[in-house]
Amino acid sequence: PPVSIVCVGMAGSGKTTFMQRINSHLHTQHTQAPDTTAPPYVMNLDPAVRSVPFDSNIDIRDSVNYKEVMKQYNLGPNGGILTSLNLFSTKIDQVMSILENRCLPKAPAEGDDTPAKPTTDHIIVDTPGQIEVFVWSASGSILLSSLASSFPTVIAYVIDTPRTTENTSTFMSNMLYAISILYKTKLPMILVFNKTDVKEPTEAIEWMRDFESFQAAVRQEEEEEREGSGYMGSLLNSMSLVLEEFYNHLSVVGVSAMTGDGVEDFFRAVEEKRVEFNKEYKPELDRKK
Ligand code: GDP
Ligand code: MG
Repeated sequence: PPVSIVCVGMAGSGKTTFMQRINSHLHTQHTQAPDTTAPPYVMNLDPAVRSVPFDSNIDIRDSVNYKEVMKQYNLGPNGGILTSLNLFSTKIDQVMSILENRCLPKAPAEGDDTPAKPTTDHIIVDTPGQIEVFVWSASGSILLSSLASSFPTVIAYVIDTPRTTENTSTFMSNMLYAISILYKTKLPMILVFNKTDVKEPTEAIEWMRDFESFQAAVRQEEEEEREGSGYMGSLLNSMSLVLEEFYNHLSVVGVSAMTGDGVEDFFRAVEEKRVEFNKEYKPELDRKK
């Protein structure tokens, strides 16, 4: 079956641009090798986006009108997104049967010996700009667990590299957020350091691989008095030790959604995580059923 890739990340990290990039990458690949590759199946779960820069097969905006939801229930923007997701998730059975129908290989007709060819290799999913609405809502969980029960599913956690690596505490906050999502969703995760055209994630990756380099950066910031009081430094130091274990579970890639740099590395990481899903996550999910 195809692998489903769910893009999550802070508002402005570049999820939608990244979706557009991987979508066009897969389409190009299909044009060049029509017999061995397939175009992706595309889903937009952001009800509030004005225009989507890619064609989607399933768009939450076709079934819920975010503006109307806000007006009808007298809600602000976040409440509107949440309620739209809730309304959409009540139709999850229909959505899943469409996905299974379109994306799983069909059993061959009687007497037909040609092996069934999957119609797609990738289901790619964009989520609302406000990460917390998707990750911390009941409907977000329902959507994710439904996907994962039918398809190998991986989380692409998109990071705004220039903003996140500004200093050690911003970096640490973002990593803690990624951990909380890893534990909440219990799905394999790829950290996608986006915007490499502006800043390479070399330093960030070094911080993850070698806690001493992170601690050296904390010390340097303290000397420059960028981080003020000492308790913050010692907290950051202790956390960097604890996080080593967590980093070992992740794939890390640097990409530019803008230029397309690193997209091949991303798809290699997806294949690794697909294998990991089937080996480690799937048995656990089946056990719980
Ligand atoms: P989303 O809220 O996570 O969906 O983020 P968007 O995809 O809407 O992107 C937010 C902003 O970041 C937009 O102005 C994009 O043009 C910009 N952006 C996204 N990816 C890149 C990138 O790889 N490089 C640069 N320089 N800008 C990017
Ligand atoms: Mg977006």
